[in-house]
Amino acid sequence: VTLNPALAEARFCPRCAAPADVHYPRSLVCPQCGYKEFFNPKPVAAAVVRDASGRFVLLRRGFEPGKGLWTFPGGFVDLGESVEEAAIRETREELEVDIELGRLIGVYSRADDRVALVVFAATTTLVCSQCGFTAEELPWGELAFWSTELALRDALGGC
Ligand SMILES: [Zn+2]
Repeated sequence: VTLNPALAEARFCPRCAAPADVHYPRSLVCPQCGYKEFFNPKPVAAAVVRDASGRFVLLRRGFEPGKGLWTFPGGFVDLGESVEEAAIRETREELEVDIELGRLIGVYSRADDRVALVVFAATTTLVCSQCGFTAEELPWGELAFWSTELALRDALGGC
């Protein structure tokens, strides 16, 4: 039920209020008026940022899910921007640094997740001493999500 709360309780067409064919979690179709609604995983853009000294720049999440745990900057892609632009914008918002995007590290998606995470490598010309980790210092036991760990391992494999 947590996979799609918008459809969990839906029984009727939001346009004409007739009983609808609900196929949880993916769709609602109205046989009366033809209204159709399809639900899809949302793309989330993120960046594994390395600073001028080569350290990985992480941040502690301030809210659930994963409150207090480490991850890299990222967030939902807005209509009107590309996935790459979203990664740059989210990093500026969350780390207050400008980055240059590098290679695509990977796309992380599972059937029981509501998002599809797209992770890029990135660099900044600053030195982030506060939240910078060398490869040996990465906090593997305190990462926020399964995808955080996989993407960091893939980032390490590619450098
Ligand atoms: Zn309808």
